[in-house]
Amino acid sequence: MQVFYATQFVLPLPPGHRFPMAKYQLLRDRLADELPSVRLGQALPATDGELALVHTPAYIQSIADGTLDPRAMREIGFPWSEAMAERARRSVGATISACRASLREGVSANIAGGTHHSYADKGGGFCVFNDAAVASRLMQAEWARSHARPLRVAIVDLDVHQGNGTARIFRGDPSVFTLSMHGQKNFPFRKEESDLDVDLPDGCGDEEYLHALDLALDELDRRFDPGLVIYLAGADPHEGDRLGRLKLTWDGLEARDRRVFDWAWQRRVPLAFAMAGGYGTRIEDTVQVQVNTFRVAARYHERWQNRSR
Ligand SMILES: [Zn+2]
Repeated sequence: MQVFYATQFVLPLPPGHRFPMAKYQLLRDRLADELPSVRLGQALPATDGELALVHTPAYIQSIADGTLDPRAMREIGFPWSEAMAERARRSVGATISACRASLREGVSANIAGGTHHSYADKGGGFCVFNDAAVASRLMQAEWARSHARPLRVAIVDLDVHQGNGTARIFRGDPSVFTLSMHGQKNFPFRKEESDLDVDLPDGCGDEEYLHALDLALDELDRRFDPGLVIYLAGADPHEGDRLGRLKLTWDGLEARDRRVFDWAWQRRVPLAFAMAGGYGTRIEDTVQVQVNTFRVAARYHERWQNRSR
């Protein structure tokens, strides 16, 4: 299974900054040690032209040269640096590469990404560019060169925070279905309208969560027929998360992942996934949730390789 990373670009963050940047390197190390079927590849940076499929030229330029106004920068939550701008591009590039690989092999991943709070003209909540949105538009453009029917993309966002940027970007676009399951009272406090939003109460546990997910996937099935799924496998619904406010166990999260992979596999729809959020009180717990997602994914990747054509 091909997995793409941009972890060599580490943001210089001030001491005590609450973003757990180290988790990406920890995850990459564990995948290299524990999952021999994972082939790690370095992501290329997304180009200006690719970013412009979603983002405004003025916003792209202001991130590139560090001229974004300070208030907008504070919304993102990272101090600007060249490494920050490069990493943001690479992270989009990793999701693009993962989408291309999944269209060939069935399943692929970005070790980072899932930056769903990013809008066309602004960032927010540790998100600079919207990787899933850029990758969706680019895959549709590449697909259109050799297919008469357009590529329809479902973005299944199970990060605990609403995918507000993604919802806004694709509002009124019938070719991309946005599904977001998130904590009702959690950030962002002004939510956008996705094609399907599932609001969860604080303290929601495995049983309630999985029931809601089953209903959501049934509804997705009734309303949409994707040729590609992009799955945001956020680790922040875990009970050990500082920001998540939900109570999912390891087993609950693994069952969540299996449901999503199974949904795509049963329909033979390629699936690319990205990590999105995870802010465990213990960073190792966040990484463990993510490793578990990769274990599930590797099994589905193997099924794709063994399927009868
Ligand atoms: Zn999140």
